[in-house]
Amino acid sequence: MNAPVVTRFAPSPTGRLHVGNVRTALINALLARRHGGRFVLRIDDTDTARSREQFVTAISDDLAWLGLDPDAQVRQSDRFALYEARFAELAQAGRVYRCYETAQELDLKRKILLGRGLPPVYDRAALALDEADHARFASQGVAPHWRFRLDHGAPIAWNDGIRGPQAFDPATMSDPVVRRADGTWLYMLPSVIDDVDLGISDVVRGEDHVSNTAAQIQMFAALGAAVPRFAHAALLVGSEGKLAKRLGSLGVAEWREDGIEPEAVIALLARIGTSDPVDPQLDPAALAAAFDLARFGRAPARFDEAELARTNAAVLHRLPYARVAARLPEGMDAAAWDAVRPNLTTLADAGSWWRVITGPVTSPALDDDDRAFVAQAAELAATAWPADPWHALTAALKERSGRKGKALFLPLRRALTGANHGPDMAALLPLIGQAEAAERLRAASG
Ligand code: GLU
Repeated sequence: MNAPVVTRFAPSPTGRLHVGNVRTALINALLARRHGGRFVLRIDDTDTARSREQFVTAISDDLAWLGLDPDAQVRQSDRFALYEARFAELAQAGRVYRCYETAQELDLKRKILLGRGLPPVYDRAALALDEADHARFASQGVAPHWRFRLDHGAPIAWNDGIRGPQAFDPATMSDPVVRRADGTWLYMLPSVIDDVDLGISDVVRGEDHVSNTAAQIQMFAALGAAVPRFAHAALLVGSEGKLAKRLGSLGVAEWREDGIEPEAVIALLARIGTSDPVDPQLDPAALAAAFDLARFGRAPARFDEAELARTNAAVLHRLPYARVAARLPEGMDAAAWDAVRPNLTTLADAGSWWRVITGPVTSPALDDDDRAFVAQAAELAATAWPADPWHALTAALKERSGRKGKALFLPLRRALTGANHGPDMAALLPLIGQAEAAERLRAASG
């Protein structure tokens, strides 16, 4: 690839990002990074009535949390002068035209066509209007809306980066409305004007935009610009289909609340929809290097929250102390992190295990045999504390008591941690320390 790779993520600030948007952002970010290119955030806020400043902020915050900071950011509401200028060129060239049909009239036309078994394509009646007609509408105070005139000369074709060769017959498409009668913009044309202006080389978005792409390809040509590469990702579905609604509201806020690490979200979303296994990769550069759009398939990508939870655990088990230190309880050091990390499903669990290390723990109720056994352990722990206290203690107790396996380990674990399961005792015991360990054993024996 010679020209620089420039991608963009173009959310409308009418709500929080949901998992589908996050996946689109990620794919665009990874594609740009993979090729040493640039990733642009474009805020699609031409609809000033529905756009909210709080969502503009939330989108940036969410991307930052995910580690997907853009290299540049633009807002469509800052760019109306550009749209106006490029629109004037299209008007001059006759590629946009004035229409006056009301919504009801258009609806009626559609119904008539459908009733005859024909596709409900706009009939271009407005193309037949002459200047006198326009003047008459103007004198009645009726302002036009504008459509882009598709060129019916040849099929619209592109080689989609995910879907492969695509072809549309423009004669079967309605000329898209690009501007409303009140002068406001619809999504289609400003998007293309921006893609041209920002040098976007690759447009990657959801497959719900495939038919928009067909029309937009003609808009690039009409503006005298090179057409970027296009790729359309298959939509996300929930693990049981019924989760579709939940997917629409699932995003960074919920993940943070559930103790999901950004690395887990990224690892999972980079791979669902491909046949590659999820790789709980912590190094963004390695993730980008392994990224390949061609790995994505056309089948819907399944987003499974249980898989996210598993990926989260796998990420935590790999995270080095330095990456989590600031989020751990005061005093929890690298040795403690390394001891508890293999047992975590969320980072909050680390705090629970830290409380087990620092105490106090609740003494378990043990039967008489076990109480006598941990009394022996208490005595041994109080007198000797070698470098590897757990193995030394259990070896000595094994010899004295004849116990082995669960009978040997479980009463000790319960006395020392108050729990039946947990991190490796060999790692925990040095952290608990001699005096505290001896005291816990003594308390459990009493
Ligand atoms: N704002 C549009 C959307 O969210 C952008 C689509 C595009 O990527 O061109 O659907």
